[in-house]
Amino acid sequence: MDITPTPRAADLDTRVRAFMAEHVYPNEASFEQEIVDSGDPLHIPPLLDELKAIAKADGLWNLFLPDERFGPGLTNVEYAPLAEIMGGVWWASEVFNCSAPDTGNMEILAEFGTPDQQDRWLQPLLDGEIRSCFAMTEPDVASSDARNIEARIERDGDDYVINGRKWWTSNAINPRAKVAIFMGVTDPDGPPYQRQSQVLVPMDAPGVKVVRPMLVFGFDDGYTGHPEVTFTDVRVPVTNLIGAEGAGFAIAQARLGPGRIHHCMRLIGAAERGLELMCKRVLAREAFGGPLADQGVIQDWIAESRIRIEQSRLLTLKAAWMMDTVGKKAARIEISAIKVAAVDAAIYVLDRAIQAHGGMGVSQDTPLARLYAYARTLRLADGPDEVHKRSIARRELRKHQV
Ligand SMILES: Cc1cc2nc3c(=O)[nH]c(=O)nc-3n(C[C@H](O)[C@H](O)[C@H](O)COP(=O)(O)OP(=O)(O)OC[C@H]3O[C@@H](n4cnc5c(N)ncnc54)[C@H](O)[C@@H]3O)c2cc1C
Repeated sequence: MDITPTPRAADLDTRVRAFMAEHVYPNEASFEQEIVDSGDPLHIPPLLDELKAIAKADGLWNLFLPDERFGPGLTNVEYAPLAEIMGGVWWASEVFNCSAPDTGNMEILAEFGTPDQQDRWLQPLLDGEIRSCFAMTEPDVASSDARNIEARIERDGDDYVINGRKWWTSNAINPRAKVAIFMGVTDPDGPPYQRQSQVLVPMDAPGVKVVRPMLVFGFDDGYTGHPEVTFTDVRVPVTNLIGAEGAGFAIAQARLGPGRIHHCMRLIGAAERGLELMCKRVLAREAFGGPLADQGVIQDWIAESRIRIEQSRLLTLKAAWMMDTVGKKAARIEISAIKVAAVDAAIYVLDRAIQAHGGMGVSQDTPLARLYAYARTLRLADGPDEVHKRSIARRELRKHQV
């Protein structure tokens, strides 16, 4: 396995770090405060667009996309450390046009979109002019098993008619989200994994209604929030179908490979941020006759945090390297494994960092509470831990079946 940084990756690493130090960290608290002060949970601070323009002009843009037709064409191994750096601040990935769920959606459109779909939706996404969402999960069925999806996509002449109720559609609340990739059933009697299809639905199509924001431990996640959305007799032309009818499940699998590992990279960045803040705090804070850093239990948290971060980073890089060299399919075990392990590591570190800060740790005065909420949701989002472990176990068992 070769994970040595290439010269261009090393150069980008330096530049993304410098960008974060100059433009993002100094504005982290004021960005958050501006949203609160505006009284509008969907307020998007103008700083975001200012920083996007700088990042784009500096070539720090679309770094996630291995496809050279649409971006710098970094490998997953080259991108991993960059995503990690962005992961320390919840809104930083968007500055570099590398935020979920757009990255996964752009990958779908790059791989499966028709030239017309790419012109209409992929290009504005690549340019950072619009945002997008992915509507699969439904309140009425256990959606960790995609075969349960009930929303319907029915052919009517040259149109599809779409009906369904979705929730946790990240970004659908964002005024800039102009298109959803919608997953639904086109052939209810087909083989279980070929019943669903994916279609592009403009968010301003008649019949699309954002019903309510879903809160994450009380956070609304602002303009990136995850609302419940209903689709009632929504009509789109059949040309909005992505790939073939019945290919929805296969496309979802293809999308989740890179998407999952991007989350892992960001989570390691979040964990690094937690460890840094924990160390600074315990060196500065005194109790019972000396700095908290002198307490053995706190040194144990710090050491355990470093061990878990390093383990997760290496497994992330291994999964990334396999995706680059032998492909997403062959990397399935590693992708599932890191999805579980990186979340675990991040939750461990952020929890200890919160503890080391005392009451301040759960407050708005550090980024820890928000990063913790983000990490905890990833035990569920993009497939719950149990489903990933089930898939690893089944593959392991298969190796030994006679
Ligand atoms: C912050 C956030 C953002 C999200 N963003 C999106 C998005 O943009 N688009 C989208 O479509 N969805 C999104 N989701 C939804 C997410 O993908 C689902 O919540 C997840 O797939 C689980 O589906 P479910 O909620 O229906 O849980 P269920 O399917 O009802 O599962 C409940 C629990 O059952 C257990 N379980 C399930 N299967 C097994 C098994 N085989 N063995 C043992 N236990 C099992 C697991 O513990 C699981 O958590 C998001 C969720 C969150 C929290």
